[in-house]
Amino acid sequence: METKTAKLLHGKAVAAKIQQQLAAEIAKLQPQVGRPPGLAVLMVGDNPASAAYVRGKEQACAKVGIASFGKHFPTQTTQAELEEVIDALNRDQRVDGILVQLPLPNHLDAVSLLHQIDPNKDADGLHPVNLGKLVRGEPGLRSCTPAGIMRLLQEYEISLEGKRATVVGRSILVGKPLALMLLEADATVVVAHSRSPNLAELTKNADILIAAAGRPGLISAEMVKPGAVVVDVGINRITDNSGNSRLVGDVQFDSVAGVAEFLTPVPGGVGPMTVAMLLQNTFSTYLRATKKIANLSL
Ligand code: NAD
Repeated sequence: METKTAKLLHGKAVAAKIQQQLAAEIAKLQPQVGRPPGLAVLMVGDNPASAAYVRGKEQACAKVGIASFGKHFPTQTTQAELEEVIDALNRDQRVDGILVQLPLPNHLDAVSLLHQIDPNKDADGLHPVNLGKLVRGEPGLRSCTPAGIMRLLQEYEISLEGKRATVVGRSILVGKPLALMLLEADATVVVAHSRSPNLAELTKNADILIAAAGRPGLISAEMVKPGAVVVDVGINRITDNSGNSRLVGDVQFDSVAGVAEFLTPVPGGVGPMTVAMLLQNTFSTYLRATKKIANLSL
């Protein structure tokens, strides 16, 4: 008997295509504008996962021709010091995007720092002004991970109108903004979270299932509707019995691949799309800023 296998949503390949397009546009514009786009990624402390993400973001910037103004601060850096740095970056005309890598050490107030970023330079789309625009369905900078998921679905021409979408997770980083974006795309949206009883009941009838809980293997094949589109946002490091560590998502990949129509791999699915959207956000701010300054007809 032939076993069915889901088609993979290749985030890595789509992200590479977006980066190529951005690189070409930046190469064309930079001589006219007189500077490249600039992104400042601020990192505090030495969380190894955060350091790896920041490295990845800076490497991606270098690839497409975005200048990095990133700074790495010691763990004991104070709120006041970071506020000063953000103020200076807000005023720096070479910088189009500012991002504070989360999580921050406990003594720092991340929300207040996010509020301080100029909403026009909010590359991560987490400032309340940009989140408010999302709620209202107005154009604005969108959170990178949910925007990357929407773009991935669009690239594979997966229609959302009238579809039942279940988002597992309600964080301000992924679940909540994604639910709003799916709603904007005319899906009927259910948001499940850690206090939702009978999770399977909420996932089993979803045409589009997004897992963003950070719980390895939370979604089993029995919880997935045959023919569903399954997007696995989770990035979990696990150590197997022989002591080897690897990254897995929230979805039981092998068994769910036998039920779903489309499925994202981990790694290589949503992660690279997140980085591509960060570059895209920085570029769109650059376009807007350069239009204002030089009155270029871009
Ligand atoms: P979070 O911890 O802030 O939120 C997790 C959410 O999942 C919460 O709303 C919680 O209610 C829900 N949840 C937890 N356990 C649950 C359960 N058993 N059943 C139903 N809901 C449950 O995490 P986050 O920042 O939203 O990230 C979620 C996952 O996505 C993590 O693994 C994170 O590493 C990953 N992530 C990936 C990317 C990417 O680019 N691929 C970006 C951001 C986050």
